[in-house]
Amino acid sequence: MTSRPGLDLLNARPKRAVSAVPKHLADMDQAARNAAMSELGQPSFRAGQVSRHYFERLITDPELMTDLPAGAREHIVQKLLPSLLRVAKAISCDDGWTRKQLWRCVDDTLVESVVMRYPDRATVCVSSQAGCGMACPFCATGQAGLTRNLTTGEIVEQVVAAARALAHGEMGTPTRLSNVVFMGMGEPLANYSRVLAAVRCLTAPAPDGLGLSGRSITVSTVGLVPGIRRLAEERLGVRLALSLHAPDDELRDTLVPINNRWPVAEVLDAAFAYAAQTGRRISIEYAMIKEVNDQPWRADLLGELLAGQLAHVNLIPLNPTPGSKWDASEKKVEQEFVHRLRAAGVTTTVRDTRGQEIDGACGQLAAAEV
Ligand code: SAH
Repeated sequence: MTSRPGLDLLNARPKRAVSAVPKHLADMDQAARNAAMSELGQPSFRAGQVSRHYFERLITDPELMTDLPAGAREHIVQKLLPSLLRVAKAISCDDGWTRKQLWRCVDDTLVESVVMRYPDRATVCVSSQAGCGMACPFCATGQAGLTRNLTTGEIVEQVVAAARALAHGEMGTPTRLSNVVFMGMGEPLANYSRVLAAVRCLTAPAPDGLGLSGRSITVSTVGLVPGIRRLAEERLGVRLALSLHAPDDELRDTLVPINNRWPVAEVLDAAFAYAAQTGRRISIEYAMIKEVNDQPWRADLLGELLAGQLAHVNLIPLNPTPGSKWDASEKKVEQEFVHRLRAAGVTTTVRDTRGQEIDGACGQLAAAEV
């Protein structure tokens, strides 16, 4: 039996620790929120008041929290709602319907998120880590390695900031945030406990959380099998996207190096089990890379693997990263790929490339470059 190299092969060791980041309301469960209030000499019901300001009213300005005692407001906010992310840069396109935000964390780590408004929904694409240790060679974030995990508070803050911008009419007429996708920087399942706590916070009914439904949240993964299986057991109903990018181990070993640890058959098995447990289709992400993974025979092989399964394919035209030797597939090659998958009975869509001109599109989030 050939032994497959493990995670240690990857550039997955964080360069910084999360310990510099102050604790935030979103990092705490109910008991911890109440305890934090007691420590401040306040009755525990004030935790609910602060939650309402943050998750429902989307405010952090103590002046506006008139139901809190005037003398204690500032201190309560400092302790429970410390500012975790400052805007380092914001760039918009698509008439203001797409906005990329570069955030500076308290330790000067940089991360990005992208808000995309559509006629019928508004989605925020959030980062789960600063950088990424998974080293996929076509992805800008993968090139730089992992800086550090983000805390639950830092993840939730990206979502609350998006909800606030949408609610306050900063992106057209005021609207509600409807979807969250973990498709920004980082591998969410490599920061499992903090991502999971963030999902719990996003799905907790207001005022304890943002009250989003599980099915409006998508966790996208390179395919960390134990993480996929664990997530299925949580029964949160979140959608799963699997970044497959190749149907055969020979190619996937190079495009998604973690494949050396959990090969195609194993990762698909875990993803199908996830679909069976949640009753919801999984999404197979496939970046179309010219003359690398776009051959008709690979479409046929992918079709064979997915036929009859609760899965659909989302083809992403490759966004070439700076200095990349790779290009997006030709349109007619892409069409043939779609055609073959559909002929095999697999629903297939081609992702739009929103935000491309502001480097906000898939795989281009690499804050270190800014
Ligand atoms: N670590 C997670 C989230 C990453 S980003 C994951 O791998 O799923 C979300 C998607 O963008 C992934 O499918 C990723 O493979 C894809 N992607 C990364 N770089 C890209 C690029 N240059 N062009 C197109 N898609 C890319």
